[in-house]
Amino acid sequence: MLSSLGAETVRVRTTDDLATVDRLILPGGESTTMLRFLKLYDLIPAIQEFAKTQPLWGICAGAILAAREVLTPSQESLNLINISAHRNFYGSQLESFTTPLTVLGLTNPISAQFIRAPLLNALPPSEHFSSAEVLARLDQQPVFFAQGKTWACSFHVELGDDSSLHELFLKL
Ligand code: GLN
Repeated sequence: MLSSLGAETVRVRTTDDLATVDRLILPGGESTTMLRFLKLYDLIPAIQEFAKTQPLWGICAGAILAAREVLTPSQESLNLINISAHRNFYGSQLESFTTPLTVLGLTNPISAQFIRAPLLNALPPSEHFSSAEVLARLDQQPVFFAQGKTWACSFHVELGDDSSLHELFLKL
């Protein structure tokens, strides 16, 4: 999706890789497994430092990793955005669905894919965190948050053919 928009992309696996990029997507997948690798390659402090100044977008499992609090089951996280994530709230793999979604800042609705997606909720502001802003809701429930240059969304968009959200991310 990013390549189709003309962006040069790098698969970030090490802190050296991270030093070569100006923005980062924590993709979907399995957050427990991803957390293991982040620890193994000592990427957690490096990503936390990176996200202080650079755009970071957590998608589904990536949003779980970026959240301040993770529940059902609880799990460590990178504490990058003031939200909680209840894992697998939107059902099993077989209950995956695609739905149109209106996103703040975009003219046309996007097509959002929910795959074992988490429930995301704002947490109250604290000493270190202001409130995260809601950029999209599904049936009243927030599904997309932004805090500074950090985004967290419970859905995927890279599986469809609409690149408008990626385009917005490249402009952050
Ligand atoms: N349920 C997965 C998790 O807990 C996330 C699924 C996804 O990224 N599509 O990490």
